[in-house]
Amino acid sequence: MTIFSKIIAGEIPCYKIAENEDFFAFLDINPLAQGHTLVVPKMEVDYLLDLDDKTLADMMLFAKKVGVAIKKAIPCKRIGLTVIGLEVPHAHIHLIPINSEADMNFHKPKLQLSADEMSKIAELIRSKF
Ligand code: AMP
Repeated sequence: MTIFSKIIAGEIPCYKIAENEDFFAFLDINPLAQGHTLVVPKMEVDYLLDLDDKTLADMMLFAKKVGVAIKKAIPCKRIGLTVIGLEVPHAHIHLIPINSEADMNFHKPKLQLSADEMSKIAELIRSKF
């Protein structure tokens, strides 16, 4: 079971943003920006491009809804979408509020946000659906 499957199952806590039958969204615990969110399929597949066509298409539509809510909650120019997947072997899309290309740099030091700040950010995004 991947760490993301444990999050989806509620065995590991997360700052949940949204969920439907097939997908789950939660705040990245080491965020590049406030509102940095991960979208994952409930189906445990390692690599995003190995998802079947329908699941991948549906995941993008779910990510769109989540991204639109993040954009309403967090002042930014765009929501950047990134797929890396080198760390956790469970397909996921990063949604990151950005104002410049440099904001997508994963080498940047991650933000240190308190549990209270993370909860408030998640609550704010959830309120924008
Ligand atoms: P990557 O697989 O390279 O796309 O990176 C995995 C991402 O998952 C990283 O940005 C981590 O900060 C994030 N991550 C790992 N464990 C957790 C967790 N328990 N809760 C939230 N995000 C996590």
